[in-house]
Amino acid sequence: MSEALNFDQIFEGAIEPGKEPKKLFKEAYEGTITALSYAEILLNQAIRTYGKDHPIGYPDTAYFLPVIRCLSGEEIRTLGDCVPVLNRARMKIKEAKTFENARQWGESTWYAADIIEAIRYIQNTPENPLHVKPWTGFIGDPVVRQYGTKMVDWTIPGEAVILGRAKDSKAAKKLVDSLMAKGLMLFLCDEIIEQLMEENVKLGVDYIAYPLGNFTQVVHAANYALRAGMMFGGIKPGDYEAQKDYQRRRVLAFVLYLGEHDMVKTAAAMGAINVGFPVITDQELPEDKQIPDWFISEPDYDKIIQTALEVRGIKITAIDIDVPITIGPAFEGESIRKKDMFVEFGGQKTPAFELVRMAGDDIEDGKVELIGPDIDGLEVGSRLPLGIVVDVYGRKMQEDFEPVLERRIHYFTNYGEGLWHVAQRDLMWVRISKDAYAKGFRMKHIGDILYAKFKSEFSAIVDRIQVTIITDEAKVLEMREIARKDYYQKRDDRLKLLTDEGVDTFYSCLLCQSFAPTHVCVVAPERVGLCGAVSWLDAKAAYEINPHGANQPIPKGEVIDPVKGQWKSFNEYTYQNSQRTIEAVNFYTIMEYPMTSCGCFEAIMCMVPECNGFMVVNREHGGMTPSGMTFSTLAGTIGGGAQMPGFMGIGKSYLASKKFVPADGGLARLVWMPKDLKEQLRPQLEEAAEYAGLGKDFIDKIADETVGTSGDEILPFLEEKGHPALKMESLF
Ligand code: SF4
Ligand code: ZN
Repeated sequence: MSEALNFDQIFEGAIEPGKEPKKLFKEAYEGTITALSYAEILLNQAIRTYGKDHPIGYPDTAYFLPVIRCLSGEEIRTLGDCVPVLNRARMKIKEAKTFENARQWGESTWYAADIIEAIRYIQNTPENPLHVKPWTGFIGDPVVRQYGTKMVDWTIPGEAVILGRAKDSKAAKKLVDSLMAKGLMLFLCDEIIEQLMEENVKLGVDYIAYPLGNFTQVVHAANYALRAGMMFGGIKPGDYEAQKDYQRRRVLAFVLYLGEHDMVKTAAAMGAINVGFPVITDQELPEDKQIPDWFISEPDYDKIIQTALEVRGIKITAIDIDVPITIGPAFEGESIRKKDMFVEFGGQKTPAFELVRMAGDDIEDGKVELIGPDIDGLEVGSRLPLGIVVDVYGRKMQEDFEPVLERRIHYFTNYGEGLWHVAQRDLMWVRISKDAYAKGFRMKHIGDILYAKFKSEFSAIVDRIQVTIITDEAKVLEMREIARKDYYQKRDDRLKLLTDEGVDTFYSCLLCQSFAPTHVCVVAPERVGLCGAVSWLDAKAAYEINPHGANQPIPKGEVIDPVKGQWKSFNEYTYQNSQRTIEAVNFYTIMEYPMTSCGCFEAIMCMVPECNGFMVVNREHGGMTPSGMTFSTLAGTIGGGAQMPGFMGIGKSYLASKKFVPADGGLARLVWMPKDLKEQLRPQLEEAAEYAGLGKDFIDKIADETVGTSGDEILPFLEEKGHPALKMESLF
């Protein structure tokens, strides 16, 4: 589809004149009337019971009733506000059985369903929730946002809405396994949910497979997609054409409509077509009951997904991986508890390490070798040593990419259902579940997964790849020494030499603009992106891999203020890329023009005026802080892409950087941090403190929640310890 088409043109000519699927349209028409009447009855009842001023809405959203908010712009706050919406929907109903009218009916059905479901939420209380796990009901904004970047950059290649009932539960599982393996996000409604539960398919937010509920609850898929358009596409509420256009272009969704048809569901399906989502049904339909490209019959379960992907234009780049478990980002959040574990490796209990190293062109592409025993016949709960060595040859490969690729071992392994991976290097810890073992998963398969994922996701820099899995203890110990001496140590040394002064280019990251449109991260060698996940090397590698992506090089050029760390080029770049709202950025202070904050900062730092210093609080810390706010209140105040002097989101490792707010006095200004964070970062902080001439024991001069949670409470402690911040120049 080319640019700037009138959206409705994509439907033009879909149906040859005289070949309208009259029966299908009749069904949709009747469904629409039924849905509207049902909504009207429920609304009248609710108004009689609660009064027309009674509030109505969903939990955890800033978008009111999202379907209505997005498509018509109205902010529905009370039961009374719903009345004109339903009246208008009713008036728009034209009886003529045309495709255009059918799409309009679909939209009216969405409005009706949004109102029906919101009315049901009046009865929702924490003690008496409307939906119990795994059923999600309405999905709140935080979840929509959580998967935002993955939807925008198409790491999640598409969304499937599955409605109805598959021919049997085995077939349901097969469909869903295949969709999950392709990494799609799933919205499930009706009996398919019970069918999947019968087959023990894992469902829920962690698996990006949402069991919404029954019947009109399918509208929660619609209001998810529409909110995505507002959050990530910056579409204004009520900008109907822009919203539809965005849905069609960017939200690659389709509907699988399974089992016997029902007129209301058919009407809701027309609503999906209205925003550009095709519908594929497993029911055998005569041609005169289908709409080419839009409402299609494919009774063959072996073909239905392929058909759906093709009509929606979804390209799955992942190659099929021949292992006995399902692989996909859906399993990234899965954890394997001790009781579900078959075998584990590393985790400080057995020697283990992982290593990606650059190799010559003499390696054999696709070779996966196991050195040592496999896991066959082990006792449940066993432990083995493990080494994973990935040799990479590529004409564009560089030594600097080794750690970037090595970090991916963590993600790729976690993509396996029944595999669990934490930490990195010689601290890594891997578990394989009993289920995975029972399905036939063996050590070599780890290599198969890594091979396939590296080849598909890093095709620009990886030409050949060879994986060696080692379980032989002596060999693991031998290779671990090599990894430590020849790789980890050298990398760390090199990283330490990598300074802001030592390079002439910093990198931008605009990934988070999807939900914070004025937010610009500029990533420097000594300052990781505030999410903690994008270092200067990561950004550099990402740029090499995809020169048109979210990470762009920005040459440093002319300096404006070397102390505060202000450069002309970064100012210009930030201004151009922040919708012309942020005019200047200082790298080395938070007191003036600090970097903006989106929402994914690992930690927040801000002033504690009573102590003439800064505090920092990490996301995991739930308690009160000396700022008078908890992490989540602070996050709500500073996020969204604004610049707030005295407050800033940061990556945790930035605390130990030599460029930690040097213009404000650096680490010596740190007066409070949660105890857990202190322990977690202790080795790095001690090193940084020594470097700054503060002495190792400086770390113990920093107050934490056991000392107090307000400036006044911690001040005596700081005085007693002789904390340097108290003697420094005033922050103001
Ligand atoms: Fe990129 Fe910054 Fe978002 Fe991290 S927080 S993904 S560095 S824009
Ligand atoms: Zn972010």
